[in-house]
Amino acid sequence: MSVALLQIEPTTRCNFTCGFCCGRHMPQQDLADEIFTAALDAFPEVRHVELQGEGEPLLHPGFLSMVRRARQRGIEVSFITNGSLLVPDLAASLFDAAVSKISISIESADPQSFRAIRGGMLEKVSRNLELFLEERSRRGLNDRWLVCRSRSCAARRITSRRS
Ligand code: SF4
Repeated sequence: MSVALLQIEPTTRCNFTCGFCCGRHMPQQDLADEIFTAALDAFPEVRHVELQGEGEPLLHPGFLSMVRRARQRGIEVSFITNGSLLVPDLAASLFDAAVSKISISIESADPQSFRAIRGGMLEKVSRNLELFLEERSRRGLNDRWLVCRSRSCAARRITSRRS
C-alpha cells in the first residue's frame, strides 16, 4: 500500500474553548519530535502532510521545525489554524518555507458570536488575516490560496477571498 497523504496532529492543546471540540476533552499534549520524524521515515512515499487535528497547531513550539523538515523532504505542507497566532513574523516564516495552503477556521463573522463560540477575539484573527494578505501581496504570491473556513455561510462570504 502506498500512502500519499498523512494527517499529523501537532497538539491537542488550544487557546480557544469551542464547546464542540473533541480536543477539549482529550489529554492536553504536544506531539513528540521523534514521533513526527518516525512518521515521515515510516512513509517515505508521502507527498503531502496536513499538520492539524483537535488542537491549535501553531501552539506547538516546534511547529515551524516540523514544516521545514517536511519541506526539506519535498513534502507539501498544509494546515488549519484558528488564526489567532498567525502573527506577521510567523507568517513570513511560513511563506519562506513555501507552505501550500493555510485554512483559517472562523465560525462566525460577528465578534460577539465568535467570542461565544470560540472563547477568543475575532478582531485579533481579522487583523492577523489582513497582515497575512498584505505580506502575501508584497511577495507577489496572490495566486496562492488562503482558505477561510466557516460553518456559517454569511461568514464564508465575508471572509473568503482570493486576491
Ligand atoms: S479553535 Fe479548533 S482546536 Fe481550538 S477549541 Fe476550537 S475547534 Fe478546537
